[in-house]
Amino acid sequence: MTERMLKFVSRERETPEKRAAEERRKDFDEIYARFADARAAEQAGRCSQCGVPFCQDHCPLGNDIPDWLRLVAEGRLEEAYAVSAATNNMPEVCGRICPQDRLCEGACVIEQSGHGTVTIGAVEQYITETAFEKGWVKPIRPDEERAQSVGIVGAGPAGLAAAEQLREQGFQVTVYDRYDRAGGLLVYGIPNFKLDKAVVARRVARLEEGGVAFALNFEVGRDAGLAELRARHDAILIATGVYKARELSCPGAGEAHVVAALDYLTASNRKGLGDAVADFDSGRLDADGKRVVVIGGGDTAMDCVRTAVRQGAASVRCLYRRDRANMPGSQREVAHAEEEGVVFEWLAGPKAVAARRVRAARMRLGAPDASGRSAPEEIPDGGFELEADLVVKALGFEPEDLPRLFGEPALAVTRRGTLKVDPATLETALPGVYAAGDIVRGASLVVWAIRDGRVAAAAIAERLGARATATPALVAAE
Ligand SMILES: Cc1cc2nc3c(=O)[nH]c(=O)nc-3n(C[C@H](O)[C@H](O)[C@H](O)COP(=O)(O)OP(=O)(O)OC[C@H]3O[C@@H](n4cnc5c(N)ncnc54)[C@H](O)[C@@H]3O)c2cc1C
Ligand code: SF4
Repeated sequence: MTERMLKFVSRERETPEKRAAEERRKDFDEIYARFADARAAEQAGRCSQCGVPFCQDHCPLGNDIPDWLRLVAEGRLEEAYAVSAATNNMPEVCGRICPQDRLCEGACVIEQSGHGTVTIGAVEQYITETAFEKGWVKPIRPDEERAQSVGIVGAGPAGLAAAEQLREQGFQVTVYDRYDRAGGLLVYGIPNFKLDKAVVARRVARLEEGGVAFALNFEVGRDAGLAELRARHDAILIATGVYKARELSCPGAGEAHVVAALDYLTASNRKGLGDAVADFDSGRLDADGKRVVVIGGGDTAMDCVRTAVRQGAASVRCLYRRDRANMPGSQREVAHAEEEGVVFEWLAGPKAVAARRVRAARMRLGAPDASGRSAPEEIPDGGFELEADLVVKALGFEPEDLPRLFGEPALAVTRRGTLKVDPATLETALPGVYAAGDIVRGASLVVWAIRDGRVAAAAIAERLGARATATPALVAAE
């Protein structure tokens, strides 16, 4: 492991219990590793090769899942890796954090027939981990160098996937990011217990070794305008994600113990990476010993409740205004959270926050709203109170005002503030400027960001006169 990767390895707070648990985990990992080949082959062998690959259709990358499952079942792992890597820049990441129950595994015909899905994500992760171990993941060495350069703004999964695709074809690629580490939400949003940061660092190191330049701590809009970047490069990709947190509007929302989900998760991830975090060390962003209330029902809320459990919270409750069936988060994540002791208050909305308390209203589901989901309505006199030393707001994210931030009013946006693009090429209203990931879709998934990065890279390569391996884009035009 390189020194750079070591920087990313989690160092959570040490206690004797945690050390003992870590030792047990190591023993388990050793035993598991010995049986991993057999387990992966057994899972892969469960695939019926049904011939109607719903799993593949429900994977945003169109991964050739039946093919690599067959190769694993036959023990042809290196070939399985080649098939898997052909459509995905980070299979080991997707295998770990895709909500498979809503994607490939949810569509598996064996799951549909009531026999439990083939664990596609786990096999995908296993294939690429084995490939790294055996040296099958080769360095990036373009056949020819091209003089043209591409500037990518944002080092999240969309930017990183595009960087790899373009560098493979010999373009000079610079990735700009306002953070001090590359990875976007893979590093500072998604918690370490779901995605070890060393996994992301390994991908970033491979890109660096392959000639991709990273300009970190570089904020477009502060350190350079978009016009300046356009003058520097032959094409630009904007992959900046969505970071404007939706606010809580009830009385007391500004109290000191009410914190934003991303601040809370970033602090936890930074501590795991060994950084000094003043707001964590002061206790403000640390759930240890506290009664925690998380407001929201998406995957970010699930990450917050599960992080609070790991930090040693005295109790963790999640307040969501709709019911379980109508929550946006993954049901699998809710089940994990419940197993870990999180209590869900369904059909409950915040009314006010005061010192050490949240007052909430009971809700019922009414007629569908603009999104097509039943709109929650307050039940009169149904209020209740929860004790809370820490309140985490996890109400979702919206795009920042990029045309203003980038000093480029001609950068057209949709009604939702996402960047307007040509759905086939992901080119924005500005010629030669493309966009990918959450800044186009709104808050979405890593796998979709990777897909967009690949689509935009293919369009950029075509524009600049190189071979393009097209993946049809799937972005709704507005
Ligand atoms: C807490 C949380 C948990 C999640 N969990 C999952 C999960 O389990 N599975 C899943 O599939 N998805 C998950 N997601 C969603 C997923 O992380 C995103 O959909 C994905 O990361 C989007 O990729 P992106 O490349 O578009 O943007 P991001 O990952 O957000 O990366 C954007 C990058 O752009 C940089 N940037 C922004 N503005 C500028 C600027 N002006 N100048 C320079 N750099 C800039 C940012 O610093 C960042 O590094 C989660 C999201 C959150 C918030
Ligand atoms: S990328 Fe995600 S959806 Fe596609 S096969 Fe892998 S885990 Fe399933």
